[in-house]
Amino acid sequence: MTNVSSFPQLVIPNTLAAGPGPGNTDARVLAAYAGSGIADHMHPDVLRGMIECKHMLRSFMGTTNVYTFGVAGTGWSGLDCMMSAVMPGDTVVAFSNGTFSGIDALTLRMKAATREELAANSLDPQPASVTVIEVPHGQSVTAEIVEAALAEHKPKWAFMAHWETGSGRINDIKGFSDACVKHDAMGLVDAVSSLGVANFAIDDYPGVVGWASCPQKGLLCLPLTYAPVSFSDRYIETLRANGAYTYANHPIMEARHWGIIDGKDVEKGVYHRTHSAYAVCAFHEALRINLADGLAQRAQDYAFHEQALRDAVTTMGCEVTSNMTSLVVLNLPPDFAGREMELVQNCRAEGFGIWPTLSAPVQVRIGILNLLSQAAITEIVTKFAQALNALGADVDIDAIADQLDTHYQSRIAA
Ligand SMILES: *Cc1c(COP(=O)(O)O)cnc(C)c1O
Repeated sequence: MTNVSSFPQLVIPNTLAAGPGPGNTDARVLAAYAGSGIADHMHPDVLRGMIECKHMLRSFMGTTNVYTFGVAGTGWSGLDCMMSAVMPGDTVVAFSNGTFSGIDALTLRMKAATREELAANSLDPQPASVTVIEVPHGQSVTAEIVEAALAEHKPKWAFMAHWETGSGRINDIKGFSDACVKHDAMGLVDAVSSLGVANFAIDDYPGVVGWASCPQKGLLCLPLTYAPVSFSDRYIETLRANGAYTYANHPIMEARHWGIIDGKDVEKGVYHRTHSAYAVCAFHEALRINLADGLAQRAQDYAFHEQALRDAVTTMGCEVTSNMTSLVVLNLPPDFAGREMELVQNCRAEGFGIWPTLSAPVQVRIGILNLLSQAAITEIVTKFAQALNALGADVDIDAIADQLDTHYQSRIAA
């Protein structure tokens, strides 16, 4: 028999979550989660909370799409829901420029594969109807790349990640949407890393019929709460006509619990799955924080603080190859090339949670999700400089601190 004394209560320490995600869940979100009463998923306040979340989410995403709600789970759960309308044999063009859009493309290959194509290589199918355009790590997907591929293939579906977190690159969402409109493709977008960080409204991109994001990055919520999704009427009509091979993540069915039935808002949701009062409270509070701060302000803050971090690591001799405002992806100074994993592991062992890239080439990723203060950026910069010095670099930490001060003074002056 297993003796429970071999398993003392699990304690997980705090870290400085300075990676691509999960971000630092806001203390108010944690308090809302822990402060929720025990209630069933049909309790009037839970149902009311879900309906309020739906309305706040529409505002947060900048949309009048009725089919806007949260999918229980993580970012991949929302993406799976969004891709559920892609059926075996459907033609798809997917753009991949890093780890995450690569996994998105794999998901699409799994969904569009025929039974024979799936059985031939079930974990990595290569369906004839799916074209994956590989853009090198460190580069963005441009309007020209999208236009050329959609003109050539004329697919039913097109896919792009808005911000590719693996390589820290922003892809051209307007170019993508325009090409989708021009070639009558239905655009699907992974907005996991951009939502809540970039200032954009999804309704400004009419070529995109489906959007999916996550709880744990710009939204500041807990992982495993709700992944925001939004679908246009065209997506929903296509889905209704063809169906999807899922119950749990079926967009039309899942939306019912959020009070969306037959394309209309209804007063009260109906059972789809056992939602958690805790998760609903956390999601609700995260949305309230985001709406109060405002997307424009938040986007400006990310850009300002990312610039401070970027300048500091550049002064240390690192080369930054990313252009996202929530994440810096860098090469170490030439003398330390090849020691990225060692540096990242040393930092992580000390509770300073930075990350390597997950696919080649090996680079270092430092993120600032919900770390938008001079104190937080200074702590990140100091810890990173100390880690470089521990490898044998000679970074003048005082000079870097002065440079940071000057950056922050400039805002006070402005
Ligand atoms: C983080 C991320 C995902 C995966 O999200 P999970 O919450 O881990 O499921 C997918 N796509 C992009 C672009 C991401 O940054």
